[in-house]
Amino acid sequence: MGAPEREVAAGIAVDWTRCRGRGICHELLAARMSADPWGFAIIDDAGPLRADELDDARQAQRQCPLAAFIVTGSAGWL
Ligand code: SF4
Repeated sequence: MGAPEREVAAGIAVDWTRCRGRGICHELLAARMSADPWGFAIIDDAGPLRADELDDARQAQRQCPLAAFIVTGSAGWL
């Protein structure tokens, strides 16, 4: 049995008023997100994130074309 994954003080959220779907957030964070039939992001597990997921979450935040994807918590700031 391996060591448990370390969690960080961060989670994920989507501003639904901005999200227009078909982005990369659910591709980068497939273990925590999925997409509805129209491509809009669905958060299946908002966190806390594991340490190894934080870079992908930050990348999703940077690359979301509408600033709709948000890394929450103190570790979310770039
Ligand atoms: S990348 Fe941004 S706009 Fe695209 S699905 Fe994710 S939250 Fe929505």
